[in-house]
Amino acid sequence: MELQIRNISKTYANGVHALKAVTLTIPPGMYGLLGPNGAGKSTLMRTLATLQEPDAGSIRLGSLDVLTQKDEVRRTLGYLPQEFGVYPKVSAESLLDHFAVLKGITERRSRKEVVEALLRQTNLWDVRRQKLGGYSGGMRQRFGVAVALLGNPKLMIVDEPTAGLDPAERVRFLNLLSELGENSVVILSTHIVEDVTELCTRMAIINRGEILVEAEPLRAVEALKGKIWRRVIDRSALADMEREHAVISTKLLAGRTVVNVHADSLPGAGFEPVEPDLEDVYFVHLRAGTPSTRVTDQSLRAGRDVRS
Ligand code: ADP
Repeated sequence: MELQIRNISKTYANGVHALKAVTLTIPPGMYGLLGPNGAGKSTLMRTLATLQEPDAGSIRLGSLDVLTQKDEVRRTLGYLPQEFGVYPKVSAESLLDHFAVLKGITERRSRKEVVEALLRQTNLWDVRRQKLGGYSGGMRQRFGVAVALLGNPKLMIVDEPTAGLDPAERVRFLNLLSELGENSVVILSTHIVEDVTELCTRMAIINRGEILVEAEPLRAVEALKGKIWRRVIDRSALADMEREHAVISTKLLAGRTVVNVHADSLPGAGFEPVEPDLEDVYFVHLRAGTPSTRVTDQSLRAGRDVRS
């Protein structure tokens, strides 16, 4: 079953053009939607999850029309939003059982089996009787996955799941996601390049409501081979460097500034070739896809410096 998104556009009442004729074809498996904050990811995810209407365009999930057959879509949809409230005084086991009833699993014995299987799959079995209010961020996210997996969804939407998780929780969470997605469409929306590197067989990069590229991560990285160059400079030399070269990102390393430049051949003295990675792919496309390079460079630098 494929998800076909065709020319989806959305302008909010305040005039923000959040999606501009977005077209994507998403096969079964883990699909990464990568873009900076404000790119339009959540708008697209909420639209796919039938929670808001686009102004134009169409979406099909297999034979279902997502925009008109909302009830049918909801029956086969798992949605893990960026933030979700839990009832702090209830245990994971009782709340999951409650959601299972809402999902239509009314027969007691089969519901017990489903709830147990999901709590084990998400590694929450040992803490199933604890109140959700005492759960860590990572445990809450895994509980969200258990809820989203109720009823074996054909379409699973996971919006910015690892923001705010500590490194160990993040690994545990990504491992859990990697087990999904063999038969269903799983869309992972994120601004964290590593999430996509580690999990996704296909991806798209979105910025300012536009899809900049749709690709297989490994191929996209391959296509940059021999085109990424690095140089260590003083911070004061950065402005000149940006004037003369296609600087895609800068990073601080032990007080010096490490600059990555995109060029078909050696850009000049002092540069060394580096193996490209998905982060280079991301920054090359973001840079190319934005009319105001100056603004982009600044925002990219901010993004990269924060992460480094
Ligand atoms: P992302 O998930 O990639 O951070 P969003 O889809 O949340 O992006 O936002 C895309 C753009 O739309 C941003 O400029 C954001 O401020 C704006 N936006 C999002 N939701 C609303 C809303 N309900 N009303 C007005 N503007 C919104």
